[in-house]
Amino acid sequence: MEQKQFQAESKRMLDLMIHSIYTHKEIFLRELISNASDAIDKLYFRSLTDENVGITRDAFCIELKPDRDARTLTIIDNGIGMTAEELEQNLGVIAHSGSRAFKTENQLDENTDIIGQFGVGFYSAFMVAKRVTVRTRAYGSETAYVWQSEGVDGYTIDTCDKETVGTEIILELLEDTDDENYGEFLEEYRLRALVKKYSDYIRFPIRMETTHQHLKEGTENEYESHTEVETLNSQTPMWKKNKNELTDEDYDKFYLDKFHDYNKPLVHIHSRSEGAVTYNSLLYVPTKAPYDYYTKDYEKGLQLYASGVMIMEKCADLLPDHFSFVRGLIDSEDLSINISREMLQHDRQLKLIAKSVEKSIKNELTKLLKNDREKYEEFWKAFGIQLKFGVYNGFGMNKELLQDLLLFHSSGCEKEDGFTTLAEYVTRMREDQKFIYYAAGESVTRCQSLPASELVRDKGMEVLYLTENVDEFALKMIASYADKEFKNVSAGDLGLESEEDKSALEAKNAEAKDLFDAMQKALGDKVKAVRLSNRLKSHAVCLSSDGHLSLEMEKVLNTMPTGEKVQAERVLELNADHPVFATLQRLLTTDPDKLSAYAELLYQQALLIEGMPVEDPVALSKMICDLMI
Ligand code: ADP
Repeated sequence: MEQKQFQAESKRMLDLMIHSIYTHKEIFLRELISNASDAIDKLYFRSLTDENVGITRDAFCIELKPDRDARTLTIIDNGIGMTAEELEQNLGVIAHSGSRAFKTENQLDENTDIIGQFGVGFYSAFMVAKRVTVRTRAYGSETAYVWQSEGVDGYTIDTCDKETVGTEIILELLEDTDDENYGEFLEEYRLRALVKKYSDYIRFPIRMETTHQHLKEGTENEYESHTEVETLNSQTPMWKKNKNELTDEDYDKFYLDKFHDYNKPLVHIHSRSEGAVTYNSLLYVPTKAPYDYYTKDYEKGLQLYASGVMIMEKCADLLPDHFSFVRGLIDSEDLSINISREMLQHDRQLKLIAKSVEKSIKNELTKLLKNDREKYEEFWKAFGIQLKFGVYNGFGMNKELLQDLLLFHSSGCEKEDGFTTLAEYVTRMREDQKFIYYAAGESVTRCQSLPASELVRDKGMEVLYLTENVDEFALKMIASYADKEFKNVSAGDLGLESEEDKSALEAKNAEAKDLFDAMQKALGDKVKAVRLSNRLKSHAVCLSSDGHLSLEMEKVLNTMPTGEKVQAERVLELNADHPVFATLQRLLTTDPDKLSAYAELLYQQALLIEGMPVEDPVALSKMICDLMI
């Protein structure tokens, strides 16, 4: 029979997993049980509309069969099964589900916690088994197939005999070593404990034939054994349990199992809602963003149950984009099990649920921000950008909802990497302060060193440091907070000067008009104007922008793959108190050519200070050398 190869990435992942010293090898069982339960869910769901399925709800079950003599553990389900193509697709490619796919080679670096990042699913079987055999028959198919693999070398698929629909997974356990006891996965007590620990809530019975010894009646030391079929799990869905009965650990465990994450969640929200619509919800905010979160491959959504039956794996309509990181489930008695996806989208109940889910997430985050700042900042680092996009998207439609959840770096924070909310900024504002100031740049250090931000700080006012591309766009959407407008420190009038200062500056500008005309001419349409400003303290020069588009926004917009290139209205600002200014004035009459060269040089410097590329580095370098000779 032909040996097929795993796809290249799958092979490497498998190899890593088999050789990893992963301490929780035991999780293989919950992964396989969870797959079995999903498969049963699918067939049960089918049975509600298709009478040919011919299995009643209470006949669905998962069976564990340890066989000490053969050293095998078999996991059997009477779920939907797999066709030959599905076998190939699902088990030939690691992480077919996409929720776990990984992309780049460097993510496969030995040091990264790959299992932690991607989950392991079916492949975890190879952490404990030297050979895995999957015998399966899909619902509606006459043929059954057997898939077999010993790990990295590939797998085979063949037809086989199987009477019933469903899947059997046979694990031939690895030999025990000094450090590892794989044999214990054949022990009843161990399997029972593992099911309790990881799979207790699974809604279908997990059964195992167990043997009990007891004294033979009428004897004192003769034992007899009898067997019985034991159900190992309690089957009550976690979300239907009473909150008081559950510990944080229970919630965490459920999350890790159900949502295939290896980091504990940051917070959980468990609630029951009665009113316009009745539902139970169990929602989680993850601690870390999944590796694909900020890509278009990420699918948002909550699991949707109608009276305990899962009807949708990822219902996107239940989660707004700004909270797309939330994982969890909704179970409502008010939804019909037979509702189609198309109908669901227009369902009034579903819309009500979505609204109230949004509200409770917002409330929970607000609570976290108030009560546990450290945790909130951890959340912010993982998902803050998403909230800022949320403010920006839809023309600011959600700004009211989200603005108080935003954090920014700021000159007002004690630590350089600290954060402030807008509300906190406002409480620190000086009485006469007209604006909420911000500086935009690629890092806090960069924002700090912008000449204009130095000036605002020296006046005793706080400057928000916007370091993400989306930041300034989000602020433009909010426009003002607590009646204070936002102001970019590099933009036109900062509102810091007294009327006298202003007119003094105007007079100086008028005086130097010839100089500025000459410089402007030398620079052509690179700048809209050259002028003096009060914005500069120690620096000789800076760039600012007139109009709505800032230099930072220009940078961001121009990196977008589509769309026209834009240019902010650039203004070259000079410091009248800097000795360079006197030099320029002298050159206007003595050496106009040199003045043109200096104008160019100052403009290029200003670009560098702004963190923008100089237009022609070679020409610039040559020009500097020419001036040095
Ligand atoms: P995931 O569960 O995240 O999708 P797995 O690697 O665990 O990833 O499984 C891959 C796929 O194989 C599943 O999505 C499912 O389609 C299929 N599969 C696994 N186990 C079973 C099973 N017992 N019955 C039917 N299909 C299964």
